[in-house]
Amino acid sequence: MIDKRYDLIIIGAGASGIMAALSALKDSKRVLVIDNQEAPLRKVKISGGGRCNFTNLDMSADHYISENPHFIKSALKQFRVSDFLEEMDRNNVQYHERKLGQIFCKHSATDIINYLLDQSNGADFLFNTDIRSLQKNSNIFEVETSKGYFNSTSVIISTGGISFPNLGVSNFAVETAKKFGLNVIDFTPALVPLRLENPYTELAGTALPCRVSIGKRFFYDDLLFTHKGLSGPATLKISSYWSKGDTVTIDLLPNENIKQIIDQEKTSKLKQRIHALMKNYFTSKVANWILYETDIDNKNIQELSNHQVDLLNNFIHFFTVKPVGNMGYDMAEICKGGVDTKELSSKTFETIKVSGLYFIGEAVDVAGNLGGYNIWFAFASGFIAGKCQTDKKL
Ligand SMILES: Cc1cc2nc3c(=O)[nH]c(=O)nc-3n(C[C@H](O)[C@H](O)[C@H](O)COP(=O)(O)OP(=O)(O)OC[C@H]3O[C@@H](n4cnc5c(N)ncnc54)[C@H](O)[C@@H]3O)c2cc1C
Repeated sequence: MIDKRYDLIIIGAGASGIMAALSALKDSKRVLVIDNQEAPLRKVKISGGGRCNFTNLDMSADHYISENPHFIKSALKQFRVSDFLEEMDRNNVQYHERKLGQIFCKHSATDIINYLLDQSNGADFLFNTDIRSLQKNSNIFEVETSKGYFNSTSVIISTGGISFPNLGVSNFAVETAKKFGLNVIDFTPALVPLRLENPYTELAGTALPCRVSIGKRFFYDDLLFTHKGLSGPATLKISSYWSKGDTVTIDLLPNENIKQIIDQEKTSKLKQRIHALMKNYFTSKVANWILYETDIDNKNIQELSNHQVDLLNNFIHFFTVKPVGNMGYDMAEICKGGVDTKELSSKTFETIKVSGLYFIGEAVDVAGNLGGYNIWFAFASGFIAGKCQTDKKL
């Protein structure tokens, strides 16, 4: 039976909220988790292509964007990747490392979901439940929902961001923060494909390993040409740093020096055509496209002028695009922005102005790069906020 009085009410049963419940229950707290959808952890279920990339072996604050880049340091110290992986081992949740230190569930995201639900099953859960109001009176939070009134000493808000609207997302965290007089940074889509005015549709579906950069920020990963512009992990990563008007520079052959390669070939007795040489590094389609864009005929390498070699070198290593926008919340993996970290204790995620009120996960102005960093922040902030309930009883 659902009680009316709890030590802790958690609003939002995603990665951060369920982790907060799990953590608070370690101290036998009475915990109620409320979600407006029919099931918990729905983003985790589809994350990482169904295999949930839940953390990364290369973990540091450098992989996070926030108005306060130092904010996350304390959380990363308190909640360590190695400890969590040991916990996964103890509970037979199988995982494996993919490139760039990314840790995925070996079989399915369901494995980690089952672990989280199993460990949090001492909490009461209310699904398909709307929050009608949330108030604090005489140190007690009063939560009015579509299924009744509930009280608690603490409230953790873990309702995430607003990307992937078909999952029933809401602005609840930001609106509630404002209601309690807290500053928020507007949400914007991040980890999102970029739109080009004149997309390279002839290459749509083609992926290639690249170095993408905006100013000093760069990433090495696969870039995918699409009918609308650019996608793939390299694009998603750099998109979080992109603002309207920014130019993205792409090195299409980041581990080679095409000028050196051509100059060397020029001295060879072998008469090779430029397209044949390019095919050592690119697909035929991409080689055709580069020659077309640089207006260079498929001639013998020895016949290329210095100017043409420079053209090829510039195109391949310093290809630039000026996106006209991004693909919006429908296709953004996460949101940048959220509750201003200045309003929160970096050690507990409790708001400084309203004791007992916490914000965690994507609702907070901490956005991770692609590679397991967002679920990790959700887990870390949830675990820490849940753990902080030790001395609080109704
Ligand atoms: C397609 C996709 C793939 C992804 N893959 C990865 C990945 O592999 N690795 C990674 O690190 N990150 C990934 N992410 C990002 C990651 O899933 C999120 O950053 C993370 O789940 C955020 O956790 P959260 O608990 O803050 O919010 P969420 O997981 O979004 O949970 C919020 C919960 O709050 C509930 N809620 C919302 N509004 C209300 C309301 N008004 N009342 C009550 N309940 C409410 C929602 O129903 C939901 O259950 C991916 C995201 C997407 C969209």
